[in-house]
Amino acid sequence: MTNSIIQLKPGKEKSLERFHPWVFSGAIHRIDGQPEEGEMVMVCDRSGKTLGYGHFQTGSISIRMLQFGETRPDGGFWKAKIAAAWNMRNAVCPENTNVFRLIHGEGDGLPGLVIDYYAGYCIVQCHSIGMYKQRSEIVEALKAVVGNSLKGIYDKSTETLPKTHTEGTSLSLYGDAAGSTEVMEYGHRFVVDWESGQKTGFFIDQRENRKLLGSYAKGKKILNTFCYSGGFSVYALNEGAREVHSLDSSKKAIELTDKNIALTAHADKHKSIVADAIPYIRNIENDYDIIVLDPPAFAKHLSAKHNAIQGYRRLNEEAIRQIKPGGLLFTFSCSQVISMELFTGAVFSASANAKRNVRILHRLHQPADHPVSIFHPEGEYLKGLVLYIE
Ligand code: SAH
Repeated sequence: MTNSIIQLKPGKEKSLERFHPWVFSGAIHRIDGQPEEGEMVMVCDRSGKTLGYGHFQTGSISIRMLQFGETRPDGGFWKAKIAAAWNMRNAVCPENTNVFRLIHGEGDGLPGLVIDYYAGYCIVQCHSIGMYKQRSEIVEALKAVVGNSLKGIYDKSTETLPKTHTEGTSLSLYGDAAGSTEVMEYGHRFVVDWESGQKTGFFIDQRENRKLLGSYAKGKKILNTFCYSGGFSVYALNEGAREVHSLDSSKKAIELTDKNIALTAHADKHKSIVADAIPYIRNIENDYDIIVLDPPAFAKHLSAKHNAIQGYRRLNEEAIRQIKPGGLLFTFSCSQVISMELFTGAVFSASANAKRNVRILHRLHQPADHPVSIFHPEGEYLKGLVLYIE
């Protein structure tokens, strides 16, 4: 239902005319009606011309746009959007892979919605109340689009939305949405536990970067820090690494890693470590050929940018100091507010402080199933460098 109309201040229509999907609170001139949290509202410019429709929510981003122009989203909206995303994933997802991000928020024209696909299970994570209120439409659209291969739909929004909105609602939205399943990524086997795992259960966004690490792994001794469920370690072992050590500060994450390592035939070449990464790296022998640094987002908001840059500098400095001469460092940032330029700057300072010659071999990004709308550059969040360290 669209009851309320939101009129923008003069000039503030420009970003919507360029299809940017967010309206900030400061752009609003007047609200006609009393929109509820998550209500679909109509947005117009100062002259009254309709600009489009979006979900309203109190906060710095007041409206997340679903459709631009005069026409309001109709009954076919959800199915059309999800079908377009599904067809795109079928076109871009690699062979021997049945795990991918089906809906990547703004990148799929659905701000506030993430859906990950794990071998027939769809895990829905809403980042806006508007999306959360639309769960039943989303479930019906998924049933229609995914068809017979759909085994279950599970809601993981309790972690991303305030309790007042999610309390008491059912987590299993369709079928047998039991807590975990086995998936295949480029032929590598993993167990994904969405019920108790972080985010939707698996860091799908590192797929192509894990594959690249695999291509360098043969005969190497590797330290995979911030390993979560051991994605990089599994690729490394399956591709012939000599020895792999996986480190995470979370005991639970290490248990997931151990489960996934057990699915490889190389558990004898693997060691798990529960520890804080920075002090651990500071004290290692310098005999690792490859080190992976994939920390959680150091900056969740713009205000934390400066501290985050210092955090990346410190972490990378320790690893650059300690890696074997001729070694490779796979280093990442998943903070949306830290651009590739800022991240490279932090790694530059780290290299200068460590006084080692460092060259960039690869610049890495998020994969094709995490698309970035050209109108919403903020959708680009994962960046990485592969460094050759003398
Ligand atoms: N590389 C992983 C994803 C990493 S997510 C993959 O490919 O699946 C970030 C991980 O860092 C989480 O598992 C979290 O538990 C861990 N972590 C957070 N702070 C840490 C610290 N100080 N030391 C080690 N691990 C940490």
